[in-house]
Formats: sequence, C-alpha cells, structure tokens
Amino acid sequence: MICRVLALVLLGWIAACAGCQLVRTHPVSEPFPYTLTRQQLVIHSDAPLDRQQRLVRDLAEQRDIINTKLGLAPTTNLVHVYLYANEQAYRQFMELRFPEMAERRAIFVGTDAQLSVYAYWGDHLAEDLRHEVSHGYLHAAMPNLPLWLDEGLAEYFEVGRGQRGFNESHIELLSAQVASDSWQPEIERLEALSSVVDMSQQDYAESWAWVHFLLESEDKSAVLTDYLTDLAHGNPTEPLSRRLRKRLAGPQVALVEHVRLLR
Ligand SMILES: [Zn+2]
Repeated sequence: MICRVLALVLLGWIAACAGCQLVRTHPVSEPFPYTLTRQQLVIHSDAPLDRQQRLVRDLAEQRDIINTKLGLAPTTNLVHVYLYANEQAYRQFMELRFPEMAERRAIFVGTDAQLSVYAYWGDHLAEDLRHEVSHGYLHAAMPNLPLWLDEGLAEYFEVGRGQRGFNESHIELLSAQVASDSWQPEIERLEALSSVVDMSQQDYAESWAWVHFLLESEDKSAVLTDYLTDLAHGNPTEPLSRRLRKRLAGPQVALVEHVRLLR
C-alpha cells in the first residue's frame, strides 16, 4: 500500500524533510552480514561496524533520552536499522523496494511485525538516524501516536543530546513568519491530519514548535507528557488541544511568543 510516500514526492519537498514514514504490510529483509545489538536497537550493516561505536552508542542512548524526557516506560520492541555502506547500493535497494522513496536519505518503515529504519553512510547520517530511530522508539511505546505529534517529536529529538530540541531550520522558518506577523498556528488543524499526504513543511515546523513549546516550558510539559502516558497505556483520551486549552487561555499566542524568544 502506498500512500503517504508517493504523495510526498509529488509535493516536491521530500528531499528537504527529514521526517518520513512508510507503512507496509510486509516487512523487508535483506542480507546484512554484520549485526550489532544495543538494548532495543539492532543494527544490520553490509560493512563492519567496528569503527562506528560512538554512533551506535548515541542511537542506543536516544531511547533513554526520549523516555526520560517524555516520562515513558521502556519497551522491549526491537527497532531494526539497516545500514548500507555505499549510497549506490542503498539507492538500488530503494528503487527496488520503495521506489516512491528512492530520493530519501533514510526512511522509517512501520509494520505490525517490525519497526525498521533504512539508511546509508553519508554526511547527514547521524541526524537522519536520530530522527528515524526516534520514530521507532516512539512507535514501540505508542503505536497510536497521532501523526503530527509523531513528526513533531522526531523533529525535536533529531538534533541530539544537549540541544534541548533546538531545531535551527524550523526556528529560522517560523521566526521569519513571526517577524512579518504571518504565522497563525492552530493545533486542531494539525490534529486533523491523518496522512503525510496532507502535511507540508510548514506543518512539520509547527508540529515541532508545539512540542518544543511544551517540553521546554517547565510549567506546561506535563500537558504533553500526561497525554503521552495515556496513549502509551492505551487509555481513551481527549485531544491534546483540548487539554491544552484547559491549561492556557490562548495557546496560539503563547506559542508565537515562545518562538519569538528563541531568536
Ligand atoms: Zn519523520
């Protein structure tokens, strides 16, 4: 089943977006002779991983970073990362198995059977893997996570440890709109999105902004973490927007001010 991905290509901004999800009913497996397991993470590679210990450690730690920040309990579902040493080999694989995503540097594939990430060794590998592996950890804990929030969280965590989710490209985009008074955020609009087909780069930026606003505001972070805890436990829950409006009279105004202060 295709879906989100093909539409992303048609929208023409796929190369600029680090966030990407593909849902297939059949997991994909390829022969990778080198395998390394760290906690929940299983890395399969077509080249030795001996010299990549730091990256492997960082990706494994990403789980604890996410769980600690979001107050989530550890899960046991494995996240498989398939790494190609050679870009050409990766592109050939993508053309064969995911032609609609062939231009992407990395993808996350979520199925009922397996959580998988595919990527190749390139200049952006660390950031790309932090983003895609974040999807894996998030899906392991909350398979029912709303699309916009899934992407907003991945964009927050892709910047790495110690950065407090400071995503420079999103800040640049939104700050310009704040300066020209042309940004009118609306969380309910994001909540209505059910497919990446409907998501623009602006939506990714705004999704990140809501996540950053909540997680980096000590007195508001519980609004998000309590919501995520209910999702993780499978509890019926009202939308995050409704919870937020009970906490704040004007969340949009507060969000715009939050972004304004980031510059
Ligand atoms: Zn993503």
